[in-house]
Amino acid sequence: MTLLDGARTPGAKILVSGGSRCNVTNAVVSERDFWGGTPPAIRRVLRAFTVSDTVAFFREIGVNLHEEADGKLFPDTNRARDVLNALLREAEAVGVHVLPGHRVSDVMPQAQDAANSSASGGGFRVVTNRGEVLASAVVLATGGQSLPKSGSDGAGFTLARRLGHTIVPTTPALAPLLVETASSIHAAISGVSQPAELGIWIDNAIAMRLTGSLLWTHFGISGPVALNASRHWHRADLEGRPVAVTANFRPGAGFDDVEADWQRRAIANPKTSIQSTLASILPASVAAAILGSLLLDGRTTLAHFGRDDRRRLSRALVEFPLSVRGSRGYTYAEATAGGVALTEIDAGTMASRLCPGLSCVGEILDVDGRIGGFNFQWAWSSGFVAGRALAAS
Ligand SMILES: Cc1cc2nc3c(=O)[nH]c(=O)nc-3n(C[C@H](O)[C@H](O)[C@H](O)COP(=O)(O)OP(=O)(O)OC[C@H]3O[C@@H](n4cnc5c(N)ncnc54)[C@H](O)[C@@H]3O)c2cc1C
Repeated sequence: MTLLDGARTPGAKILVSGGSRCNVTNAVVSERDFWGGTPPAIRRVLRAFTVSDTVAFFREIGVNLHEEADGKLFPDTNRARDVLNALLREAEAVGVHVLPGHRVSDVMPQAQDAANSSASGGGFRVVTNRGEVLASAVVLATGGQSLPKSGSDGAGFTLARRLGHTIVPTTPALAPLLVETASSIHAAISGVSQPAELGIWIDNAIAMRLTGSLLWTHFGISGPVALNASRHWHRADLEGRPVAVTANFRPGAGFDDVEADWQRRAIANPKTSIQSTLASILPASVAAAILGSLLLDGRTTLAHFGRDDRRRLSRALVEFPLSVRGSRGYTYAEATAGGVALTEIDAGTMASRLCPGLSCVGEILDVDGRIGGFNFQWAWSSGFVAGRALAAS
């Protein structure tokens, strides 16, 4: 088996992942953690190589994992380098011939090459910048388009398309979101993080709510909840549907709950100011920024807090409009949504249903996971399924 990689050093994304600690997988992974594809196919692949299998595999190759917040599993050494080194060592041990610096520009089914007809399972001519390689089977594991400087620049989609596959239109996923500067509070509170629930509104109706940590930045918003929201914003935008994002700073609470809370507080502490009350619930700088955006005087006491202003503030706390105008794109995205249509892949083998001898695994497929180790688990599981099938063939 030969591994052709256009990058000089394979596994760049492993090295940068999880803040260079590599969030290898998650304690609990199911098809509900992914978007794109078809859930039954995703489930089948995940069940063929589970989280326990991943933990056992890494233990066997010398990488013990431990669990952290939100079920994230990291190597005990907290070094992504150890994960990559172990994988490369194991590849060598089982006889994989790793050829870095071999950029693939074409994969040609031999029958197609000779007779200009469709693929017939007669093997492939793989064209690289360093010459051609003949292969009886080819696995496309080129990743998506995120972090293109790592070597995953979307070229794999062109290869797959030429081999007859449908590419579900791609967009960045797990990317920080850009917010219109004029209308927002983000710049003033850059660097502050807080729990929040983001509402994604599509066609003027709430489509989903995502909860997690929100990080305010100089360009807009980041942090797990913003990254998870990005694919939904992009997919709606791609379809030309009106999409908006709001933030609920009291996750789980609705307008009426917040209203009732103000009234309770006004009775208990009538002389306390709105600013200090809000600052006991939210980071003080966020509290000040929200009051400023509503042109409310934070020094007003709760006893003198008028009904209309109170309702405006309650509304802002549960549905604060964030004028998202896009994301920071593939350069900053951790994943790609869209890709090779999963319906064209046999989930029991990862083999192409259209091109005999071809398989696709990992992020090139139309499957993207939420933040937390899910994308790597998809890569491990789908890679295992393809490898097992090829070994048996
Ligand atoms: C900054 C960052 C942090 C991340 N952190 C995490 C994390 O902690 N946990 C997690 O689960 N996921 C994380 N991800 C996502 C995860 O890295 C990817 O989903 C995963 O690496 C996909 O694996 P893959 O093998 O399909 O593709 P990739 O890892 O992208 O590998 C594809 C390989 O194919 C090569 N290639 C591409 N085109 C060609 C060509 N034409 N010829 C030859 N070679 C080619 C590339 O050089 C590359 O080495 C992160 C991603 C980024 C960008």
